[in-house]
Parts: sequence; C-alpha cells; structure tokens
Amino acid sequence: MKITPNILYEILLDELGIQKWWPVDSSYHKNHSSDPRFEVMVGAILTQNTAWSNVEKALTNLKIKKILEIEKISNIDLEHLREMIKPSGFFNQKAQRIKNLASHLHNNYHSDLNCFFDQELFIIRNELLSLNGIGPETADSILLYAGNFPIFVVDAYTKRICKRLPIKAGDSYDEIQLFFQRELNKKYNTEKLTQIYNELHALIVIFVKNYCKKRPECCKCPIRKYCNF
Ligand code: SF4
Repeated sequence: MKITPNILYEILLDELGIQKWWPVDSSYHKNHSSDPRFEVMVGAILTQNTAWSNVEKALTNLKIKKILEIEKISNIDLEHLREMIKPSGFFNQKAQRIKNLASHLHNNYHSDLNCFFDQELFIIRNELLSLNGIGPETADSILLYAGNFPIFVVDAYTKRICKRLPIKAGDSYDEIQLFFQRELNKKYNTEKLTQIYNELHALIVIFVKNYCKKRPECCKCPIRKYCNF
C-alpha cells in the first residue's frame, strides 16, 4: 500500500495528537518584554546535532542571565556566551553562529524582528543561508516556527522514514521539501499550509523518536501496513 505525505499527516496526527511546536517560554518573554521569536531562532541553532533536553539547559542559562535578546547577545562577550550554551555541545561553533545571527539582526534591522520577517520568504531564506553555520534545515525551522512562513522542514528523521517506507520524494533536501510541499498543497489551501507544515514536521520527529528508531519498533508502529522496511 502506498503512503503519501497527506496520509502520513492524517495517521500521525490521529495517533500522536497536535504537538503545538515550537516550544517557547512565553511567560519569560512577557515578563521581560522580549521577542519569543528570537528564542526560536537561537533554539534552531542550539538544536544542531544535539538532543532537545540539552538545548533547554542552554536556553535556561541564557534566561537566568536575562540575555535572551538580540541586542544583548550581539553585545555579549563570546567567551561568556560559550560558557552559557555549553550544555548544547559544539558550543564554540554555536556561540559564534548565535552571535553572528544576533549581530546581523542588530546591525541590519535594529534588533526588530518585525522588520526582518516583513520581507519575502525567499529573501529571508537567502539571507539566513548566507550566515555561517545556518543551513537549509536551520533556516527553514526559523522561517516556519519563528516567521510563520509556509515552508516544510526536512531533517534526518524525514529522510529516514522516506527511505524506509518508502516515500519516493528524492534524495536531496530540496527534492524532499518540494515533494512534500507539492503533495500537501494538493489538499490544503495556502492559509492552512503553514499549520500543516508546522505540525507534520513535529509529528515526524516525535514519531521517529518513539517508533522508527535506529532499531525500529515496527510491531506497534501506526503506519506499518504502508511500510516495506
Ligand atoms: S514499520 Fe518500522 S520501519 Fe516502517 S515506519 Fe514503522 S517503525 Fe519505521
């Protein structure tokens, strides 16, 4: 039986429920009059090659010091930033990436994310991709979860289930992204798509962590009847 991104979405939503990503500490930002979208952007860099539990520890450190804001991070001493984000691993690279992003937003947009996100999707995407250490997955996570743009995020988990089921979406990041977007676009209108991309990426991550692990637990998998693995 052939599975499509639309069927995948429906089954995973039914099985796992709404995920409501991206997790952000709204009360912190309310209390500090800061922009929660910047927490998403920092989180998207911190989560590179590490588990989310480590990202949370690094974000907590930034919040304890009350520096989770564009201007404050653009002015912070790099060594100090490295120390605070240490729990996320690869902290030398990540500190530099976060500081570059904050400096870019501070210097070009006066630390105002409304100005930054008030541009065409492809312009913002190219701008993010031009920054050192921001690849397609990080850029698209920022666009979808911070900018609320209709763009599907492809990660290693998406590639894994495409290969195992299989969903013949292609091999490259761009091919898989275009395939999912084209298929979901057949069923959902433009207004709805952002929400679908948001949920589906989250559902895939949770699904793979719980079922389609390196050693998959196929006997209880909700999509096993579609799977050739
Ligand atoms: S049946 Fe097994 S390999 Fe296939 S998608 Fe489910 S968990 Fe993954």
